[in-house]
Amino acid sequence: MEDNSKLRREQAKDELRKGKKIDTSLYEKDLKGLVEELSIYQIELEHQNQELYKSHEEIQQSKDRYLDLFDNAPISYLIVDSNGIIKDINQTACLLFESSKNKLVKKKITNIIHRDFQDVYYIYFRSLIKQKYNQTCDIKLQKANNTFFYARIQGIRQTSLATKEPEFRLAIIDITIQKEMELNLLIAKEKAQEHDKLKSAFLANMSHEIRTPMNGILGFAELLKEGHLTDKQQLDYINIIEKSGTRMLNIINDIVDISKIEAGLMKLDIKESNINEQIEYIYTFFKPEVEAKEMKLSFKNTLPAKEAIIKTDSEKVYAILTNLVKNAIKYTEKGSIEFGYEIVETQGRASLQFYVKDTGIGIPADRQSAIFERFVQADVSDRMARQGAGLGLAITKSYVEMLGGKIWVESQEGVGSTFHFTLPYNAEPVTETINQQLATSGKIDTIRNLKILIAEDDEISEKLVEIAVKILSREIVKVRTGVEAVLACIENPDIDLILMDIRMPEMGGFDATRQIREFNKEVVIIAQTAYGQSDEREKAIAAGCNDYIAKPIKKEELLALMQKYFKK
Ligand code: ADP
Repeated sequence: MEDNSKLRREQAKDELRKGKKIDTSLYEKDLKGLVEELSIYQIELEHQNQELYKSHEEIQQSKDRYLDLFDNAPISYLIVDSNGIIKDINQTACLLFESSKNKLVKKKITNIIHRDFQDVYYIYFRSLIKQKYNQTCDIKLQKANNTFFYARIQGIRQTSLATKEPEFRLAIIDITIQKEMELNLLIAKEKAQEHDKLKSAFLANMSHEIRTPMNGILGFAELLKEGHLTDKQQLDYINIIEKSGTRMLNIINDIVDISKIEAGLMKLDIKESNINEQIEYIYTFFKPEVEAKEMKLSFKNTLPAKEAIIKTDSEKVYAILTNLVKNAIKYTEKGSIEFGYEIVETQGRASLQFYVKDTGIGIPADRQSAIFERFVQADVSDRMARQGAGLGLAITKSYVEMLGGKIWVESQEGVGSTFHFTLPYNAEPVTETINQQLATSGKIDTIRNLKILIAEDDEISEKLVEIAVKILSREIVKVRTGVEAVLACIENPDIDLILMDIRMPEMGGFDATRQIREFNKEVVIIAQTAYGQSDEREKAIAAGCNDYIAKPIKKEELLALMQKYFKK
């Protein structure tokens, strides 16, 4: 067609040159054919255009979908090349690292791995290069704010579609919480195992510590029974029995105290307390014992009496000081023991810093913190320990901390030890000193014709109390239960004093007291208990008792208490 029209155009030119007229109808026909052909082309082109647009749309959609899947996957994801360079990272991972794509891409992955885990990662990466299967490793990774978190990496080697080079696709899971839990569990397990070991050692030691004084008590009681003994021998044996009993009581008290501390039942009784008086009392109490060992005991009170009053639990302070001084005596054979306190200021707060200094055997440096641990020094292999349950310092430390202070030791083997502890200095100076100590002079100035009811279920305890109060009594009534005590009071309205045991069958001493108080408000009731709880006195008073005495009952103490109520 095109050739024809070309030919026609040449012919037309010729004819025009020769001055002939041209037949245009033929051209019109050609033109029409061309227009038709053009429109077919156009339709074809439009169709092709539409197809192209459609596939472009589809490609875009699939790209968006890929990006969405990658970026917003529920797992952090990054891709590194064989040189460890981060090639891509998804949004979830950026959130995890608290960073952005820009900052992380092109960075070396080792730059965000904790230095302690570089080797672990290196080995892992080499294994990924070698083997084409899923592999995991746990490492610590760094966030943009320089904090670290534990991560589990699950990775695989693949070939990049774009570069045909190998690439490593790593999924990252934050396992910090899991790791912390694992760590806590491990620590708890180790602690439990250590505790278990120490408890066994403690029990073995305790068994030894209880059996030893028992041996003394039962053995010498047996010897006493045999007779043919001189007065001196008898007195010696009785002294041994008494000493063994005291030792046993100390152990029992320690066990009760540590159990109470462990169970969180140890309470504080905060009152104003004169520190100088406590120091002087302890000095007077221990002086004979120290001098018997041919050593010197001295004390130093820094504050004047008026300013030496603080709000604290004086019983606990007394126990702390007593324990430290006792240990100083126990572990020193020659030289001197000095104790006291001074006022110090730390971080703007005043506190009293106490010290107990001895010239004894000292404590090796590696044992200086262990001695404060409960059960630790009960280790039977402890060659430094002398007689004792090994609980004293653990109890002492707990008391100091309960009172808001700290305790530590400075010691050198063969030279001596100085124990320090602090207490908050928290009281205003007062003008009057408070001294409400009960006089326990031992001088008996009491009405001697009392009618006494002893309510006690234990025969030996009953006998002991009976012997102690006999000289002040005209008549002694004895009962074994709370119910019997109430009945005895109804039948004997002239009873002056009831020594009421707290734990008895049928009805306890507190209940019996409450019932007696319903009809008799005058009779003096003194509760006696072996529980050793610090709130026992309050409980006794609340039940209606006048006073309270702790077992084992000391004759002197009981008589002093009776003197308080029946003074002539
Ligand atoms: P214990 O009642 O058995 O003496 P403590 O808890 O009071 O137990 O003391 C623990 C350990 O600390 C003792 O076994 C002893 O080894 C050591 N220790 C305590 N005080 C002194 C001291 N003043 N000098 C030397 N060692 C001491």
